[in-house]
Amino acid sequence: MSKLKIAIQKSGRLSEKSLDILKQCGIKLANGDRKLLTAADNFPIEILFLRDDDIPQYVEQGVADIGILGENEVWEKDKDVLTIENLGFAGCKLSLAIPKDETYTGPSFFQNKKVATSYPKILQKFFIENNVTAEIEEIGGSVEIAPGIGLADGIFDIVSTGSTLLMNGLKEVEIVKKSSAVLISNKNLSAEKQAILDKLLFRIKAVKTSSENKYILLNAPNSAIENINSILPGMKSPTVIPLAEEGWSSIHSVVKEDEFWEVIDKLKDLGAQGILVIPIEKMIL
Ligand code: ATP
Ligand code: MG
Repeated sequence: MSKLKIAIQKSGRLSEKSLDILKQCGIKLANGDRKLLTAADNFPIEILFLRDDDIPQYVEQGVADIGILGENEVWEKDKDVLTIENLGFAGCKLSLAIPKDETYTGPSFFQNKKVATSYPKILQKFFIENNVTAEIEEIGGSVEIAPGIGLADGIFDIVSTGSTLLMNGLKEVEIVKKSSAVLISNKNLSAEKQAILDKLLFRIKAVKTSSENKYILLNAPNSAIENINSILPGMKSPTVIPLAEEGWSSIHSVVKEDEFWEVIDKLKDLGAQGILVIPIEKMIL
């Protein structure tokens, strides 16, 4: 039986989270050390540990069937692969930044200027879309020091907190793209491999949904149940169980993480008490 080969980053910001996702999907790796190729014990999958830059090419060529990497690398490498699922971690921006004392006038600021970056393709596209002619200086790393040493007038780089920019006397002036980790796939998987991928995707979606939702339990007077049910729709509808104390019930449901605080405030206003919120490990809709 064939196995699905998944490429993940060997060591870097994506490595741990990529392994975590596989673990949460119930996939056990044969051994802890990261050999180039590691097989799973209980799922027809093999893991290839690579540099993230190489993943799009390997997936395009079918050396790996699928891969996990930042969308920024997928855009920059521009290989013929399918992006099939956003994994929701390693969020960052690809931004233009200039020395903090300069006045930014919009994209035309960069007309006839020089910009240092490790992402020349994405940047070139942005300049073309904005009718800007600028010189792109491609460098491999430490892009943020380029203006300070006189190599460039500005930079185009990954920004997460902005502290690196600040330390180098730069300010972010344009967010060109927002990126996060994604799952990519080769375009011509065999039916057998596609079936393994579908099974894996089912699990990944269950893990993702569970992390986006919380289980909530609360006590409420029976008179408030109807109103509470309308703001706690749950998966089908909330579970309502009578309490030993006359006139009170326990309500169980599921809330979305991003609506959580708003919902809690409303529940309190409606007379809910003893609210418990519990993480969900897996959630299948
Ligand atoms: P490799 O040796 O595999 O080429 P790398 O140095 O290119 O590693 P990392 O720094 O580990 O890559 O970053 C991997 C990915 O993490 C980036 O491509 C990006 O998608 C994401 N990322 C999220 N936040 C940041 C950040 N603050 N700086 C850099 N990358 C980030
Ligand atoms: Mg890299």
